[in-house]
Amino acid sequence: MLQRGQASNYRFECNKDKLSRDRFWGDNMRMSQLYAPTLREVPAEAEIVSHQLLLRAGLVRRISAGIYTYLPLGYRTLRKIMDIIREEMDKTGAQELMLPVIQPAELWHETGRWFDYGDEMMKVVDRHGRYFALGPTHEEVITDLVRSEINSYRQLPVVMYQIQNKYRDEIRPRFGLLRGREFVMKDAYSFDRDYDGLDCSYRTMYEAYQRIFARCGLDARPVEADSGAIGGTDTHEFMVICDDVGEADIAHCDNCGYAANVEKAISAFTPGPKVVVEEGSPRVVDTPEKRTITEVADFLSVPVTHLIKALVYIAGDRPVMAVVRGDHEVNEVKLARHLEVLEVELADSSVVEQVTGAPVGFGGPINLPEEIPVIVDREVMELRDAVCGANSLDQHYVGVEPWRDFPQVEVADIRMVTAGDPCPKCNAPLSVAPGIEVGQVFKLGTKYSQAMNATYLDESGKEQPLVMGCYGIGVSRTLAAVIEKHHDDDGIIWPVSIAPYHVIVVPVNWKDAEQKTTAEELYQRMQELGIEVILDDRDERPGVKFKDADLIGIPIRIVVGRSVKDGKVEFKLRWEEKAELVELSAVIDKVSEIVHTAR
Ligand code: ATP
Ligand code: MG
Repeated sequence: MLQRGQASNYRFECNKDKLSRDRFWGDNMRMSQLYAPTLREVPAEAEIVSHQLLLRAGLVRRISAGIYTYLPLGYRTLRKIMDIIREEMDKTGAQELMLPVIQPAELWHETGRWFDYGDEMMKVVDRHGRYFALGPTHEEVITDLVRSEINSYRQLPVVMYQIQNKYRDEIRPRFGLLRGREFVMKDAYSFDRDYDGLDCSYRTMYEAYQRIFARCGLDARPVEADSGAIGGTDTHEFMVICDDVGEADIAHCDNCGYAANVEKAISAFTPGPKVVVEEGSPRVVDTPEKRTITEVADFLSVPVTHLIKALVYIAGDRPVMAVVRGDHEVNEVKLARHLEVLEVELADSSVVEQVTGAPVGFGGPINLPEEIPVIVDREVMELRDAVCGANSLDQHYVGVEPWRDFPQVEVADIRMVTAGDPCPKCNAPLSVAPGIEVGQVFKLGTKYSQAMNATYLDESGKEQPLVMGCYGIGVSRTLAAVIEKHHDDDGIIWPVSIAPYHVIVVPVNWKDAEQKTTAEELYQRMQELGIEVILDDRDERPGVKFKDADLIGIPIRIVVGRSVKDGKVEFKLRWEEKAELVELSAVIDKVSEIVHTAR
């Protein structure tokens, strides 16, 4: 046992660790050897910038729809993202493990998800005719693991994570790594005694996610989201706002920071006084062939805000009618939540005719068969003297007073918020922007532990279900999102923290002995310091070398040219316009400073 003040060899051990880790990374590469087949042309298959650059810079190659090989440069960056994730997960006390990709169908039958998960699940059959899933997610597998080993409150809480390929037979794999069928995910699962414990695990993960994305150079904002089919209560998605390729719309308030997926977003709403209109009834008018909201509004010279839009949906197995103001859209997720079904689907025209007695475009909530539930958005109830379909061909009602004419309806918030709606927290106008979901944290509660009988004994010896959370990061999607946010016309601009290499040394003329020797020396010295460096040793024109360096996005470029005679080299950061001449003696310090600050 060491005594206080006695020297230990701890520092030495520590240094040794660091060296071996650096060696694992491989600090150096000669451009002539690097397997990075760059392309000059934009590949026709790639619609969006990140996909184009992933292919052009030689980071990935496609083997089938939504399935990719990571080439050395792409894989280095992917591994750096994984390392950041590992560091931040480990810091929280989460433990890394590796669950199997191939999962027996029986586990999924226990939760009912073998069928509920739907066509996205990739299935395989073994030689005995037994079915397996290629893991799209791992709640069942990890719950099965802990139910046999965790039995006391003393073993809780526990959080475990893995980084692994996931398989989802996406209906539309697209956008390169943004929506693949095989993709890399970090998934973590927390097990707590109770909901207070879950709140704490959730908060810890949420904060770790903020650090992870910031370290990767991404501004990913946590937004409130719908808990959907997976079940559970609170959930946040981490969204990178991206006008060109965002697949989900986010409503956000720049005044107070409120942010929510539009599926979930609400706006401030103060109902007006309830209008009592005793007398009268709406009048039927002819609206020949006027089906759409704008056609009817133009024809009757009424603003669209005074029209009432009625849509027939199938919810579960029954038809329902959803009613919103003419200028609003139905939020199908809110509608499904209100009806307590997994999802709703627009009915086809034959169902619409059966339900309303009229073709599409002329339906409305007045005089519908009683058994059809009608859900009316709360803002429709504020209208006076409005217009809606009359449930008969080429006819609408005018003079509609919702409080008088819609007696049997359910009133709820079922509309999509739009830009400019008042924020539910502070009333400032909301903005709506498309975003890329790079991660999601989820309070599952006891959904899986109850279905799979995963319990523990509490302090009084009573059996309780484990309280769970799950936390995902799309690792390969994060890589693509970084490129979406960090590029210019010439190529990728990697943040130093995840760049495949930190520096590229470019001798202008490889045949010039002094340039070559200096470049080799710089290359050698930087390797010794653990700086990851590429030496462009090709006998190519400088223009070609510069183009490649820009395309693959190496953050620091050192050009060894004629001024080496005066003891100077050119130093340029990928994101800056101008290069500067730097004394050879100072250049490595300058590089080290940048690399170490980024780590
Ligand atoms: P999406 O709504 O985009 O289909 P999801 O909500 O189904 O994603 P999760 O189950 O929450 O996805 O998975 C965790 C993370 O994995 C997501 O936040 C996302 O970053 C990533 N991810 C999901 N599907 C894909 C995919 N097909 N390709 C690449 N990454 C994906
Ligand atoms: Mg998600």
